[in-house]
Amino acid sequence: MMDRKIRSVLIVGGGTAGWMAAASLVRFLENMNVRVRLVESEQIGTVGVGEATIPPIMDFIRQLGIDENDIVRRIKATFKLGIAFRDWTGPGDFYFHPFGPTGFGMGSVSFPAYWLKMFLEGKAARLEEYSVQAVAAEQDKFVRPVHAPNTPLNKITYALHFDALLFARYLRQFAEARGVERTEGKVRHVSLRPEDGFIESVSLENGDRIEADLFIDCSGFAGVLIEQALETGFEDWSRWLPCDRALVVHSEHAAAPSPYTLVTARDAGGQWRIPLQHRVGNGHVYCSSFIDGDKAMDTLLASLEGRPLTDPLSLRFTPGRRRKAWNKNCIALGLASGFLEPLEATGIHLIQRGIAMLLKFFPDRDFAQADTERYNRILEFEFGRVRDFLLMHYIHTERGGAFWDHCRKLPLTGSLQEKIELFRSHGRILREDTELFPVQSWLSVMIGQNIVPRSYDPMADSLDPRKIEAKLDEIRAKAKQCADAMPPHQDFIDKYCAAGVLEA
Ligand SMILES: Cc1cc2nc3c(=O)[nH]c(=O)nc-3n(C[C@H](O)[C@H](O)[C@H](O)COP(=O)(O)OP(=O)(O)OC[C@H]3O[C@@H](n4cnc5c(N)ncnc54)[C@H](O)[C@@H]3O)c2cc1C
Repeated sequence: MMDRKIRSVLIVGGGTAGWMAAASLVRFLENMNVRVRLVESEQIGTVGVGEATIPPIMDFIRQLGIDENDIVRRIKATFKLGIAFRDWTGPGDFYFHPFGPTGFGMGSVSFPAYWLKMFLEGKAARLEEYSVQAVAAEQDKFVRPVHAPNTPLNKITYALHFDALLFARYLRQFAEARGVERTEGKVRHVSLRPEDGFIESVSLENGDRIEADLFIDCSGFAGVLIEQALETGFEDWSRWLPCDRALVVHSEHAAAPSPYTLVTARDAGGQWRIPLQHRVGNGHVYCSSFIDGDKAMDTLLASLEGRPLTDPLSLRFTPGRRRKAWNKNCIALGLASGFLEPLEATGIHLIQRGIAMLLKFFPDRDFAQADTERYNRILEFEFGRVRDFLLMHYIHTERGGAFWDHCRKLPLTGSLQEKIELFRSHGRILREDTELFPVQSWLSVMIGQNIVPRSYDPMADSLDPRKIEAKLDEIRAKAKQCADAMPPHQDFIDKYCAAGVLEA
């Protein structure tokens, strides 16, 4: 049998996507005799944003075998228990989307089912009060999961806020130490094989030519391989996701870093605050049809809590995805594969999923169509469900102004329409296949956005209402008790992973 194994991989781009891919390939293709190279251009640079993550990033770090405190310290990270939405449904409103489970089921009846029954009858408190994560975030507390049976402390679920440039640098060191070869240079030309249009090689500005069997396009919005060379095509999703611009600025801390991302609604979009150990990342994402750049900039700068540390960076994007993330012998990851605005911090996660699926369907040089198609269907599904989740944040608000009026009229996708209808009828939420967001996230955001069901799951009637009330009281009391006992987020960082301080 002829050896058709992949012998060489070339990654184009050294931003978050490129170095996540390089670190993963060198780690998981160990002993497979695959040469992994990465070319990047310091002259072009990276987008330098993407600083909030969601919990699966912790699996990425652990699977690489990286020590968590070490990376937290070196990328100046803080911990994230969820996202706070301020003024989102209307001025003065506030809700929290916590990570991790809320409450416990009672027999076969889930927490959302019985909580909703009592909530609709006016006998339950706000959803946040039952989540230890939400209560801890409100108090600026943090702890990693601890073995404490029958308490929510077992299941603390968290992610990180980090400096994107430091994260890429960390992964670069990791990857280079294990054999990834980095080339500084700008790709000027991409050669395709005449017989089938597969990529044969890339040529750099200095004249060097690099061949490979498999190419990974991590070149950011430019899509040097997937679009400029392979003309894969892009699905524009701006009919669902209205924002198309972002302004980004770093500022000094005005207070100790909170263990959550804060998102505040603005006249034509939203503003994020991402606290790191050494600074705060701020950004204003907006729709350019409803506000001009100068006004968007004034809005951002006027509401910074600390002194700005950088000149604002201005970014344009079209929400959507590449028609095929895997085309011929090229796989696009990161911004080269698409971008859905940063409201729920899903960009880095989608890179992670792309890498995980690449490893699952790792090809040989025949590039079986069945593998490629399946990969593309999975990624298309996951991008689509993330889009639905983001869209849900816009369609149901009471905010005034032309932008928010426009948002209320955004068309629903069929999958989101079904999700909302199922919820409205009996509060049911189903998580399908590899959909990213769990039931708890949908519940938090639907309730947060004031999407209230007409009725609850009839199975909740199988429980004695007095027992439900007692259970709810117990969960709420435990959430508070556990949060009260946690250390302040800053103290936790100082003790285990402060930047520049060696771990005890
Ligand atoms: C405003 C905004 C906010 C975001 N916030 C979040 C967030 O909070 N959380 C999250 O998960 N995601 C977020 N994202 C997404 C996240 O930033 C990206 O997923 C992540 O940074 C990956 O970027 P990248 O590596 O694909 O691209 P880039 O960082 O742009 O890297 C591209 C690389 O390609 C190289 N390159 C380009 N052209 C060439 C060429 N011709 N030759 C050689 N090299 C080349 C560049 O030098 C660079 O190294 C955000 C994105 C935006 C736009």
